[in-house]
Amino acid sequence: MSPESFKLTYATMFNPPESLHTSYDEALAKLKAEFGKEYAMLINGEDVYALEKFENRSPADTTVVLGLFQKGTAEHAQAAIAAAKRAFKDWAFTPWQERVALIRKAASIVDRRIFEMGAVLSLEVGKNRMEGLGDAAEMADLMRYSCDRMEANNGFIAEMGSDPLVGLVSKNTSILKPYGVWLVISPFNFPAALTGGPVGAALVSGNTVVMKPATDTPWTSRILAECLQEAGVPAGVFNFVTGPGSTLGQALIDSPDVAGITFTGSFDVGMKIFRDFANGRWVRPTILELGGKNVTIVTKNADLEIASLGLTRSAFGLQGQKCSAGSRILVEEPVYDDLVARILDLTSKLKIGDPTDRANFLGPVVNKGSYKDYQQFSSELWESGKVLTGGKVLTDAPYDRGYFCAPTLAELPYDHRLWKHEMFVPITTVGKFTDFETAMQIANDVDYGLTAGFYGAEDEARWFFDHIEAGVTYANRPNGATTGAWPGFQPFGGWKGSGSSGKNAGGLHYVQLYMHEQIQNLVRKP
Ligand code: NDP
Repeated sequence: MSPESFKLTYATMFNPPESLHTSYDEALAKLKAEFGKEYAMLINGEDVYALEKFENRSPADTTVVLGLFQKGTAEHAQAAIAAAKRAFKDWAFTPWQERVALIRKAASIVDRRIFEMGAVLSLEVGKNRMEGLGDAAEMADLMRYSCDRMEANNGFIAEMGSDPLVGLVSKNTSILKPYGVWLVISPFNFPAALTGGPVGAALVSGNTVVMKPATDTPWTSRILAECLQEAGVPAGVFNFVTGPGSTLGQALIDSPDVAGITFTGSFDVGMKIFRDFANGRWVRPTILELGGKNVTIVTKNADLEIASLGLTRSAFGLQGQKCSAGSRILVEEPVYDDLVARILDLTSKLKIGDPTDRANFLGPVVNKGSYKDYQQFSSELWESGKVLTGGKVLTDAPYDRGYFCAPTLAELPYDHRLWKHEMFVPITTVGKFTDFETAMQIANDVDYGLTAGFYGAEDEARWFFDHIEAGVTYANRPNGATTGAWPGFQPFGGWKGSGSSGKNAGGLHYVQLYMHEQIQNLVRKP
């Protein structure tokens, strides 16, 4: 495969050309030389510094300070919103074709900086290098996808029918128009795609943006801010602030000048934001992309080689910290022992360590909180279930300075709380079933409905698609049982407690969420 013909997605990342590794290593070496550098916020086109700073430390080695970031305050939130509000009129009146051109240009700058961004993602999140590069590549594709949809729909300007007015001509036009200042708050686990995706959609549709990344991962979105600035996005149209969700984030949510929001993160914070945001003077669009408790059903007709590969990748890729991570496996009784043995074999071969090292599949979990969560859940598994592998943190060198956890597969009674709780660490529970109805009942008996996987015969897969309650569903996929969505191929979004909009990102109906409709009825004499 030549580097030119290689298109990086989560489906192709298992077999990249060698040149990709060389470029990643070069970018990593440059970044290492700059560890500890200070990074500003971006408000109204200017670098802005706060009085207080916070350190961005590597979860693989907590003695390493990757960079110094600004601890933005409520005043910074207000300044960013004011700048975005001032910039809105001009940006909204900029022809949509020009906005498309600017966002496409920014996406191509992301492409140019992809190795740097991929390495940053390994460093601050703990993603293995292919997952890091994948996140950055997905961001650029999500931005382009929103541009493509604007073009495919003529900027969402459409002539409607002429109503029959006697003696008059009635012309009707439908136009989708931007709302105003759009807030984007993103999580630590996909700081590229889940920042650039919503930001690209909001901007291309004519909104101005204030964006706040997770405190664990400010570096990636600082690079996005630089790409947008270099592309020529006018001052104030995109603003980037960093700091704690509980103070800076809350100040953004509480502002009456915010017209709409895209929040991606945990269920609890998302629901709080939803309720707080409802205190405004009127209802404002609230796109929430929340947690998951993703199930895979495996029947006796499954190809177990493919199933075990997809299940292992989805359970432990990014240390189980994907909203789409496979965290529940239901297996038809006759193939249970064989499948479990295969997953255990594959898991034992997964290499754990420094995520920037190409040999490693698992890096650390993102922070001390997740590390403690893993220990708490593991002790529950040891107490109430049967730990088949893992169940312990790794503390000997070379793991002693980071948050490394062994990938864990456990059997657990179906009535245990962890079958329904999103753990967000490398832990998956597995159980047997004997009849399909019961399996589907267990599969759907959770508050979430994000992704789901299936391995079995094709007619069974159709039954699965018909009955499973989830926004992204896969059958017989080796590259991931429940993970690996890509814009334009598998648009991503959740049902039930996993998402509010019912329309998936990177899909046909997404960019429209960032606009409201105006009907223009013009009547004249013939
Ligand atoms: P959190 O909910 O902890 O944080 C998400 C963002 O919200 C962070 O930027 C955080 O800032 C901010 N925040 C926290 N409190 C407030 C507040 N009161 N007001 C405004 N902002 C606030 O999620 P994680 O970062 O831990 O991400 C993991 C979660 O995200 C998982 O539940 C996962 O399933 C979900 N997720 C969902 C996806 C989907 O598409 N459905 C995709 C990816 C992740 P700070 O970091 O400073 O606290």
